[in-house]
Amino acid sequence: MCPICFTESGSYSVIVDTVYSVYKCSGCGLEYTVPNPSDQVLQAFYGNYHDVRADATIVQRNARRNLKKLEDLGIAPDAVILDFGCGKGEFVDIAGERCFGIELNPDNTNSRIKTSFDALPYRSFDAITLWGVLEHLNAIVPTLKTLRSHLDTDGLMAITTVNAEGVIPYYHKPPEHLTYWTRQSFEKLAATLDMDIVLYEPYQMEQYAAIYLDRLLSRTPISYRDGILTHSLRVLPEIVEVPTNEIFVVMKPKGS
Ligand SMILES: [Zn+2]
Repeated sequence: MCPICFTESGSYSVIVDTVYSVYKCSGCGLEYTVPNPSDQVLQAFYGNYHDVRADATIVQRNARRNLKKLEDLGIAPDAVILDFGCGKGEFVDIAGERCFGIELNPDNTNSRIKTSFDALPYRSFDAITLWGVLEHLNAIVPTLKTLRSHLDTDGLMAITTVNAEGVIPYYHKPPEHLTYWTRQSFEKLAATLDMDIVLYEPYQMEQYAAIYLDRLLSRTPISYRDGILTHSLRVLPEIVEVPTNEIFVVMKPKGS
């Protein structure tokens, strides 16, 4: 059954490995993983997990861009922010003294990163962010309901996650990624949470031109690739804005 709109019938499986299938919901288009792994299975998986992200410079630049986006939407520089699933805490570090993070297995010494809601110094937040976290969750609606209960009445919830309707390909990779999203899935989710979508757009990030081009040309024979890379990198800046296979979604409580 679809974990977002609860449609049971008419959905079909798009990919199957030995353990997991990914189904596409006939109701909202969400692609979701079956079976939904238990917390124990995910804990075992993330126990040996190494997030292969860009280097620190790139992650920090993108965290700054994400913060700027929130400020453009009215989040004040002194706002109290919660970054749920904050990972290494790059966003928490950048967003400042009033930004806190929740991470189950933090490897950051930042004292503003906690392992539970109870440990947070605030009960209510002006903004709650989930940067590339939603697709990892096995209990989306209960988790987001909890987060919603910690959101100020005129606060914002900002999410980046895998876009199942974009032009950039994405990979099905259970149990790391459990859901792949559509606009309709987000409308259902927003309704469940009694929220409105205020922003829904393809997510751009910054990346080293060399890394982006190398990935882009991964299916181009090496004899062509090296020439294209050499010429392109001569004219491109070192870091460029690139499209991603994610969407940037912001929701706010209805009526605020
Ligand atoms: Zn659905």
